[in-house]
Amino acid sequence: MAHAVNGVVAAGRGAKVSVETILVPDPGPGEALVKVQACGVCHTDLHYREGGINDEFPFLLGHEAAGVVEAVGDGVTDLAPGDFVILNWRAVCGSCRSCLRGRPQYCFNTHNASQPMTLVDGTPLSPALGIGAFAEKTLVHSGQCTKVDPRAPAEVAGLLGCGVMAGIWPTSRTCSAGATR
Ligand SMILES: [Zn+2]
Ligand SMILES: [Zn+2]
Repeated sequence: MAHAVNGVVAAGRGAKVSVETILVPDPGPGEALVKVQACGVCHTDLHYREGGINDEFPFLLGHEAAGVVEAVGDGVTDLAPGDFVILNWRAVCGSCRSCLRGRPQYCFNTHNASQPMTLVDGTPLSPALGIGAFAEKTLVHSGQCTKVDPRAPAEVAGLLGCGVMAGIWPTSRTCSAGATR
């Protein structure tokens, strides 16, 4: 069953963004459905809207978020409904050369959700940074969820998902690196 929720969509290059009803599928194998509690506004979202990242419109914006896991798909064992999580751009594989060297930020085989979120007419959305969290719910790969202390306010914890990461790993394939260089 798909969940019909509100999301902020950039329909075309430079066009004003709008709140649209989007359809978020139930999680399939390896995926997690997350109820978003907070999502920061990052300059990269503007870059997406301006067509500065790629032309894969329509985009579902938002990628610096925290929320609560609502459901997980088959095979997901390290995450459960009710977990408070930060969302990451990509899930690392854990088994490639970089991951085995302890440098997962250079992983060669990262994952996002494999099912698309869509507009109500079925048009697939491109989630910003593989997250798309300017929405009441979003679908990600389970490895994109990092459990954190639920006592942390969501609007603070979510910043770890982009602003803090971009600062710590300026040479990795981060949001800021991709957007501004
Ligand atoms: Zn960002
Ligand atoms: Zn890897």
